[in-house]
Amino acid sequence: MEIIRENCGLAGVFRNKRAAEILHACLFSLQHRGQEAAGIILGKDDSFSFHGNRGLVSEIFTSQVIKSMEGDYGIGHVRYSTTGSNSSRNIQPFFIDYKGQTIAVAHNGNITNSRILRSKLENQGAIFQTTMDSEIILHLLVRSRGRDIREKLAGTLKQLKGAFSILVFVQDKIIAARDSCGFRPLSIGKLSDSFIVASETCAFDLIGAEYVRDVEPGEMVIFSDSGIDSYKWTENIKKSHCIFEFIYFARPDSCIFGKSVYLTRKRLGENLAIECDFTADLVMPVPDSGSIAAIGFSQKKQIPLEFGVIRNHYIGRTFIQPSQKMRDSGTRIKLNPVKSIIQDRDIIVIEDSIVRGTTCRNRIRALKDAGAKRIMLGISCPPIKFPCYFGIDFPSKEELIANKMSVEEIRRFLGLDGLYYLSLKGMLDAMMLPAEDFCTACFTGRYPIRPDFSFNKSQWERKDGCDS
Ligand code: SF4
Repeated sequence: MEIIRENCGLAGVFRNKRAAEILHACLFSLQHRGQEAAGIILGKDDSFSFHGNRGLVSEIFTSQVIKSMEGDYGIGHVRYSTTGSNSSRNIQPFFIDYKGQTIAVAHNGNITNSRILRSKLENQGAIFQTTMDSEIILHLLVRSRGRDIREKLAGTLKQLKGAFSILVFVQDKIIAARDSCGFRPLSIGKLSDSFIVASETCAFDLIGAEYVRDVEPGEMVIFSDSGIDSYKWTENIKKSHCIFEFIYFARPDSCIFGKSVYLTRKRLGENLAIECDFTADLVMPVPDSGSIAAIGFSQKKQIPLEFGVIRNHYIGRTFIQPSQKMRDSGTRIKLNPVKSIIQDRDIIVIEDSIVRGTTCRNRIRALKDAGAKRIMLGISCPPIKFPCYFGIDFPSKEELIANKMSVEEIRRFLGLDGLYYLSLKGMLDAMMLPAEDFCTACFTGRYPIRPDFSFNKSQWERKDGCDS
C-alpha cells in the first residue's frame, strides 16, 4: 500500500494527576494518524503549560518534558497536514488567550468551507497566526454569541461544513465534539475517576482505560467537575463514517464506530475470497495493512498463508520523505521478498488498496525478480477513483490510477497475471453496519457534503456526483 496520510489523532484527559503521562501514552498509540508534529496543553488551576514540536511523539515528549508539564486536565494532538503547511506554527493544540483565559483546540478532519469562513473573518479584521483550518474554530468561538461555552461552541460548529472531530480546552473543562456526519472516530473512556477521549480505542488499552462509548455524530460532550454533559449541537444528523478508516487507517486493535477494525478487515478479505476465483499455491499479504484481509482471504479459500515479504520495522521515517523517487526507494528498503517462499510458486498477494500504483508496481516487480511464477493481486476495497475532501490526503483525481485506467489496464501496468478489486457491495457487507451510515465517496464520487468549490477547485468537478 502506498502511504496515505490521515490528518490527525486526538487525545484528551480530565482530572488525572498523571495527565501529561497519559496524554503522552495516548498520542504514542495514535502515532499512525500523524507523524509530522505533536503537542499537548495541560491546565492546572488558572495556569496552563504547552509543549509541542515537529517530529514523532517519542522524540518530542522526553521523560524530562513530561515531568515538567503540570496539570490534571488537557488535550493532545498528532498531526499530518492536509491543510496548512508543515510549519512549526501549525502545531496543535492551537491556543489563544482571550479575556484572561486560555482556550485551545485540537482538530481531526477537514473543514470544507474553510476558505469562505477565513475570508469572512479576515474581512472583519481577524488576524490569523497559522494556515490551518483549525484556527478558524477559535476565531468563530470568541465571536459566537451565547450565554456559556456550550452555546458559543454550538453556534461555532453550526457554521462549519465538512469533517471535524475536535477537542476544546477551556479553564476547568475539556469538550469533545463531532460533525453531524461522524466522519472521523472519537471515543470516550474511563480510567478510575478520570475521563479519557481518544480518536481510537487502542489509546485506552495502553493506559488501562475502559471504553465507555463514542461521541455521537452531532454531539458535544463537556467534561467538568460536575460530571459529563452531553448536548446535540445540531438536529441535522446524517451518519457518513469514513469507510477508509476500516480499510486502512485505524489500527486493527481499535474499535471504531462501535465495531472491531480487525474483524471488519478480516471480513473484507473473506468477501474478497468469495467474489474472486483466483487459485494459487499460497496467499501472502503486503504487510502490515494487507495482513488481516489476507488472513480472512486465506481461511475462506483454504489456501495457506505465508509471509512472502518481510518488513523492516526499524526503517524510521523514510515513508514521510516527500518525493516519489525517495518513497520508492524507501519501499524497497522496507519490504524484502523471501525467495525460499515465493520462488516458482503461484501467489495471491492481498493489498488493502491501490492509489497511484507506482509503489505497487515496484513491489510486484520485486516479487517477480525473486522468482514468483504467477502473481495475482486481490484488493480489499473497490478502485479509488475520486479525491477525498474530508481529511484523507489522497492525491488529485488525475493521479489516482483507477481514475485513468480500467482494471485490465491497471493489471497490465502492474505486470500482474490477475487483478481483482472487492465490489462495493462486498465492502459494505463486511461493515456489519447499515450501508447508508458510510461515506464511500472516494469509490463512488457520491459526496455526502458538497465542499466549498473554491477549496482545491482544480481537483473538484461537479460531475463527481455530489449528493447535496
Ligand atoms: S471520501 Fe473516502 S477517504 Fe474520504 S471520508 Fe469518504 S470514505 Fe473516507
